[in-house]
Amino acid sequence: MPIYHTGSETVMSSTTQVGSKSESRGKYKAEAYSAASVSSPLAPTTIPRRDPGEHDVQIEILFCGICHSDLHQVRNEWSGIPTVYPCVPGHEIIGRVTKVGSEVTRFKPGDLAAVGCLVDSDGNCQECQAGLEQFCPHMTLTYNSPDVHLGGVTYGGYSDSIVVKEHFVLRVPSNLNLAGAAPLLCAGITTYSPMRHWGVTKGKKVGVVGLGGLGHMAIKFAHAFGAHVVVFTTSANKKEDALRLGADDVVISRNTDEMSKHKGSFDFVLDAVSAEHDINAFIQLLGRDGNITLVGAPDKPLSVSAFSLLFNRRSLSGSLIGSIAETQEMLDFCGKHNITADVEVIPIQKVNEAYERMSRADVKYRFSIDMASLKSQ
Ligand code: NAP
Ligand code: ZN
Repeated sequence: MPIYHTGSETVMSSTTQVGSKSESRGKYKAEAYSAASVSSPLAPTTIPRRDPGEHDVQIEILFCGICHSDLHQVRNEWSGIPTVYPCVPGHEIIGRVTKVGSEVTRFKPGDLAAVGCLVDSDGNCQECQAGLEQFCPHMTLTYNSPDVHLGGVTYGGYSDSIVVKEHFVLRVPSNLNLAGAAPLLCAGITTYSPMRHWGVTKGKKVGVVGLGGLGHMAIKFAHAFGAHVVVFTTSANKKEDALRLGADDVVISRNTDEMSKHKGSFDFVLDAVSAEHDINAFIQLLGRDGNITLVGAPDKPLSVSAFSLLFNRRSLSGSLIGSIAETQEMLDFCGKHNITADVEVIPIQKVNEAYERMSRADVKYRFSIDMASLKSQ
């Protein structure tokens, strides 16, 4: 994933020069939780944040979801995206605007606002011009990307505040529960986007593999789009929850007899598994021209049988979060249909315990950190 800036930005202490424009920036201290090294637990710290510039929105963070990507990154599990320490994760951010720059038009202090996985992109490449910032070769991720304003890397949402360019700040429908809305910013858009792309609609048979944070949002969206939804899980104890979340059927994926009943019958399968697994077992479920999309991001390569793709002209693809416009579309859809994540709200002091539980697939179905707990340090 090409996340490093290779463009012409020049970083000079706290002065930023982007293209022909240059802004002098002050900075302030924010409270946060960071991992100091690959083997350190997350612990309290203070981090620098830039003072809001003319196009920036400053947000007091109220809730931040915990994504499995946070765990992968903190534990340096992705060889393609090495972790720079200290690492402050968090890209499912909901908060309230505290300050805006003079050129900001869509937000004012007191508004609800949200930030997902992206905080910047170059704005003029083919992908940005097409409104697909998530594929910009110069995009800046919310954490662990080079910070052109302050140097070092960007710091994420396990913090009391963040400063983000207006274009990357989302509006939050006022009817949504805020703790449950935070995970929409990653788990929500990452499952919504590929289902829209591959035409999940009424009458389609859709599989969801892995009932975690992403998986449970995928069930909710596929159900809301009118599809027939089948969940594939390794955890027998999640069966009833899957049905409650909107699944029409649940299959224990380690049971080969149950799996073979569904062979060749799916239009679309979304694979949201965080670890190595046999993907061929799910490719075989697809019917003619069926597609399986990977959103799960295990570091080790998956082995794919050519024959499982050749028969039925099946395809295998991937999908990365979603664009800013599509994230807003998804949030508005959630507002209209009252969709939020099922969350266990925790104080930030329990974040390490939450990571341990997530690594054992024991989360129902997303942890959402109540950031007010950061003030009670
Ligand atoms: P999560 O809440 O931990 O859920 C992962 C689920 O995968 C588990 O609940 C479990 O479901 C299943 N699973 C875990 N280990 C397994 C194994 N060894 N074999 C089979 N199934 C296993 O994680 P998440 O936050 O949903 O994230 C899932 C993956 O998506 C992560 O790799 C994350 O980095 C990635 N991700 C990608 C994007 C993107 O843009 N593509 C965005 C966000 C996250 P069952 O108990 O039901 O089996
Ligand atoms: Zn995420």
